[in-house]
Amino acid sequence: MAYATTQPEHLLNVPTGRMSALPDRPGDFLDWLATRPGYRDGAPEALARSYAPRREYAHYLRRRLQQAREASPARLVIFPARIDTLQREGEDEGWTLHGAQGRAAARRVLLAVGNAPRPLPARGARGLGRPRLLDACPDYAGVAAIDPGAEVCIVGTGLSMVDAVMTLAANGHRARIHLLSRHALLPLAHSPEHRVDGALQVEALHPLGIRARLRRLRRQARDAARGGLPWQAVMEALRPQVQALWRSLGAVEQRRFLRHAVRYWDIHRHRIAPSVQAVLGNLLDSGQLHMHRARLDMAVAGQRCVQLIARTRECRTLALDVEHVINATGVELRVQPCAIRCWNSCSATATRAPVPTASALPAMRTDACSMHGATRRTTCA
Ligand SMILES: Cc1cc2nc3c(=O)[nH]c(=O)nc-3n(C[C@H](O)[C@H](O)[C@H](O)COP(=O)(O)OP(=O)(O)OC[C@H]3O[C@@H](n4cnc5c(N)ncnc54)[C@H](O)[C@@H]3O)c2cc1C
Repeated sequence: MAYATTQPEHLLNVPTGRMSALPDRPGDFLDWLATRPGYRDGAPEALARSYAPRREYAHYLRRRLQQAREASPARLVIFPARIDTLQREGEDEGWTLHGAQGRAAARRVLLAVGNAPRPLPARGARGLGRPRLLDACPDYAGVAAIDPGAEVCIVGTGLSMVDAVMTLAANGHRARIHLLSRHALLPLAHSPEHRVDGALQVEALHPLGIRARLRRLRRQARDAARGGLPWQAVMEALRPQVQALWRSLGAVEQRRFLRHAVRYWDIHRHRIAPSVQAVLGNLLDSGQLHMHRARLDMAVAGQRCVQLIARTRECRTLALDVEHVINATGVELRVQPCAIRCWNSCSATATRAPVPTASALPAMRTDACSMHGATRRTTCA
């Protein structure tokens, strides 16, 4: 989904020099990008630190997949079709995959369907159709088609919101853009230099509960600043250990993290390019981008607009009349609604392991459930 965008303003959130798809060739994406038109003349160090458009990354992945296909004795067949139903054909006979375009049989099935977008969390949202209600990701074309004079509300203030604002800004949007979120926290930016705080003892965090971990990390960030390192260097030191850190928390502590700390984790961990933050900052300073800290309650469709009703922390009612609502509330974190219909269809035979959703943690893959040969993996946002 993330790389399906063709909009040039949608950038990777990780510098080019760290986006290789091949673990044994860490500079692979950088080397590939340096051969592309528009990127050939720059200094390699500057290119490594830059944030490339995500559509370039899609080209890169397609190219590497094509090369792997050509080099491999195995046969890879890609069916560009949506699978709706997955049917078990007896203990040793594999599976039948059903879709609108026909069916296919497979001995083993691995579901790698990514995360589904979360529906707009508001009463009345089902009554709103496109283009009044648009999903920031993956309806990139819908957002790009918004009239620059139309007042817009974006619900959610994470990375999908950033993409939507970048597209509106690239189209010369003139009207007000409202941002609505419960915490009103915006993603923070990468530091210009990639630094890693070598002094952080990540293993020492494992026995600690979530509150003590956060206290330790704040102290570490202060110490790092005294040594001339940005706080981002502390987050970088954590990165390779995120899975281990998550697993070392008990279920109660994991839930506590998801309830109290995940928003703060998200804005520090999922950072944006400094150039993107500059665009957001300018729009906020000019007042065109207007932040509301409130919980969306209801969305009522009018003929030419949508009325949104939200409640602020102080229990006041906030009413907004806008021409478009962009749902940027992120991916579905709950296991059940995240499931595609094929998952539901075989629920009778499925072994469902309830997992505390680790979706808040980046780059973490969790074996969520296994279904007698079919494995569903959730990728954490
Ligand atoms: C806005 C955004 C920006 C991001 N930026 C970065 C970044 O800069 N750097 C980074 O490392 N990561 C980034 N990520 C995260 C990264 O995109 C994901 O970790 C990665 O794409 C997950 O890959 P995946 O294969 O698990 O899922 P996806 O990429 O979501 O792929 C799922 C696939 O399953 C298919 N599918 C789903 N349901 C069905 C069905 N019923 N039938 C048939 N096919 C189906 C979909 O069509 C899709 O092809 C970003 C994510 C988002 C949303």
